[in-house]
Amino acid sequence: MPYLIIYVPFMKVAGMALFPFILVNERSYRYDKVLINHERIHLAQQIETLVLPFYLLYFSNYLFNLLRYRQHHRAYRRLYFEKEAYQHESDLQYLHKRPFWAFFKICAQPKGRSLNFEPFQNSFQRLGF
Ligand SMILES: [Zn+2]
Repeated sequence: MPYLIIYVPFMKVAGMALFPFILVNERSYRYDKVLINHERIHLAQQIETLVLPFYLLYFSNYLFNLLRYRQHHRAYRRLYFEKEAYQHESDLQYLHKRPFWAFFKICAQPKGRSLNFEPFQNSFQRLGF
């Protein structure tokens, strides 16, 4: 997937994907493989949703989350598109194996599945669960 990296020093966030561009606010970020991979995952999401619907879904999901959580960071991190990007940003091979509409799977996950009970495992065992 072709993309161009553009340096935008006044941007408040480190990186942003605006198809077909990746914007970064530090010149050195163009060499940050994890950040660029994160933004490339967003480019893949944008292509799959035919670009414009991506922004509509992204911002409507954000507004819904903001009403629900009443905090920017929580609303942002719970965006379906962001969940996929953050989950896979460190896997530099992810885009080669990523299924079509992978974000939709995250969207369709039952709420409880994303909870991590590992830290409570010993307590559960002691209680007989
Ligand atoms: Zn992102």
